[in-house]
Amino acid sequence: MPKKRAASAQHAEPSVKLTTRGAARLQARHPWVYRSDIDAAGAANLLPGAVVRVLDPRGKFLGTALYSSSSQIAIRMISHGSVDDLPALVAERVRAAIAYRKDLVQNSDAYRIVFSEADFLPGLIVDRYNDILSLQILTQAMDAAPVRQAIVETLKAELHPAAIAERVDPRIREIEQLPPLPSSLLYGDKTSTVINMNGNRNGDESSAIRFHYDAFEGQKTGAFLDQRENYAAAALYAHGEALDAFCYQGGFALHLAAKCPSVTGVDSSRPALEMAEKNATLNSRELEWIEGNAFDLLREYCAANRRYDTIVLDPPAFAKTKRDLDKALRGYKELNLRAMKMLHPGGILVTCSCSFHVSPQEFLKVLADAAQDAHKSLRVIESRGASKDHPILLNVPETSYLKCLILRVSD
Ligand code: SAH
Repeated sequence: MPKKRAASAQHAEPSVKLTTRGAARLQARHPWVYRSDIDAAGAANLLPGAVVRVLDPRGKFLGTALYSSSSQIAIRMISHGSVDDLPALVAERVRAAIAYRKDLVQNSDAYRIVFSEADFLPGLIVDRYNDILSLQILTQAMDAAPVRQAIVETLKAELHPAAIAERVDPRIREIEQLPPLPSSLLYGDKTSTVINMNGNRNGDESSAIRFHYDAFEGQKTGAFLDQRENYAAAALYAHGEALDAFCYQGGFALHLAAKCPSVTGVDSSRPALEMAEKNATLNSRELEWIEGNAFDLLREYCAANRRYDTIVLDPPAFAKTKRDLDKALRGYKELNLRAMKMLHPGGILVTCSCSFHVSPQEFLKVLADAAQDAHKSLRVIESRGASKDHPILLNVPETSYLKCLILRVSD
């Protein structure tokens, strides 16, 4: 950790003074302070992405933050002490993030290596897909050339990947007022590989589920790695005829296929289903894929009295902002109500919400309301979140967003 400097020392770095509310947020160990909670006049001369000393309203030193000149989140704390060399600190944090996963992930070669604030690296995401690493840079400070170089060099030295790819989110670069940048390889020349997930702990990969990975295809950095442990948990209870609604490239569906004689995956994206079919072949499985709107399909199947033993619901985030909350809750209710009606007694419902703005309590309430309307009783077998490689930082609610409930249906 960087050493705290004596309060009397002279500092060349710029500083930012917070309002009382801003300081209270940091004292509550949340790393973000909004623009409305900093002294705007004092911040006027700060450069985009500057490393700034953070002061409380009376001038007391609170730590060091990364400044954004454009985001509503004006500062993100990086240290409770002083920072003399940001690239060196980032390198140290990346090494710590890699070490943190050593004990937590032992049966997969695809997992998140760095999860932004949850790994004390605000604005950096790094995912490992076997021998390809994929990263996303989300803030001005992380975009600086010396910081980028420290990230890439550390990843190379620690993990010896065949390639490091950068997946650019153009919307984020616009928000951060960073120049447009294409997604590209930062190192190496390999762009596709095969990942192995949820194998045995003893290193025997024969039971792992395999997926094709293409560094420049698909959503986010390629796959929904946060669901990895939930795939294995769902497969524990899955049986009979299974339906995976919002299946993407078959994450749940392929894990269920190891237990269920028949699995159908539904998604509105044809490219996702084409990849799902390739993944089925890779695992020597036969599954049915249906391209369509899962809402319409569930309505139709429910009306036609179709029955299943296992249903997975993993829709996209319905509530991207707080304003969408009511509509999102109605969407979750409709999907879950139909799924509950379609499950045989003893059937398994795996139901997820990745909307941060829908709290676990609100999600449970929606499920309870749906159960009431479906005239079913459901027992919660497991209440789960994201895989352990997506750490939840206790005082930062935004790091906890995924809810995955596994329920057993009774009449
Ligand atoms: N369960 C997947 C992730 C699902 S992400 C996994 O673990 O990999 C959400 C998926 O829903 C995306 O693949 C998207 O294409 C799909 N989707 C979005 N709206 C849809 C709709 N109305 N009907 C069916 N699929 C939809």
